[in-house]
Amino acid sequence: MRRRLAAGNWKMNGTGAALSELDTLTATHPSPTVDILICPPATLIHQAAQAVQGSGVAIGGQDCHAEVSGAHTGDLSAEMLKDAGATSVIVGHSERREDHGEKDDDIRAKARAAMNAGLTAIICVGESLEQREAANTLDIIGGQLSGSIPDLATGENLVVAYEPIWAIGTGKVPTLEEIGEVHDFIRARLDRRFGEGVGRSVRLLYGGSVKPDNAAEIFGVSNVDGALVGGASLKARDFSGIISALE
Ligand code: PEP
Repeated sequence: MRRRLAAGNWKMNGTGAALSELDTLTATHPSPTVDILICPPATLIHQAAQAVQGSGVAIGGQDCHAEVSGAHTGDLSAEMLKDAGATSVIVGHSERREDHGEKDDDIRAKARAAMNAGLTAIICVGESLEQREAANTLDIIGGQLSGSIPDLATGENLVVAYEPIWAIGTGKVPTLEEIGEVHDFIRARLDRRFGEGVGRSVRLLYGGSVKPDNAAEIFGVSNVDGALVGGASLKARDFSGIISALE
């Protein structure tokens, strides 16, 4: 039985004042029956991890370097994120792929580094609008899955987030049938590559304009085990509505 997961990605939003949202979140869900993860900017990870200590909320990073240490100015290793209090890290978000030219090979190396450091890697995949309109969605997702998931993946150290690029921050959401088609496809690919034991235990998140008012229907789709949420994770009240839809 896969435990459901609500993961919030704050992106490049939030200074120390934003930590009060975590207090609201932990007070609203004192004993959550689903896993809750917040990925704040790296500058807040340590304080955030302290703020949620003893609650059911975990803290994650938004990216990591593939190396353990070295001459990589401005970068952070998975070990550093773990040391600061993170339990997970998002890798391969489409904004990293777009803004930093990250390719599947880079993402696989980052995910491997995260897993080796004892973090769960949340690997993002998703098609552009052009690719969907050309009916290439499943080919694109299939290529991203085989290129970016390392061989050492397990149900504990891997989460896959399906995030159609055209749905991120746009208010546009695929139909429930479209979401179901991609999630079933991802599950089948994981089963085929890792065997059903591992394949069935990896959690699959949908991401892209999830809000409190559309969360319940999305979570009713087969093989959707939760959500990766951007904008609606910034305010505890909104994120809480999404968490409640998973409970
Ligand atoms: C995201 O960036 O991962 C995301 C899903 O954003 P939003 O929820 O704002 O569409």
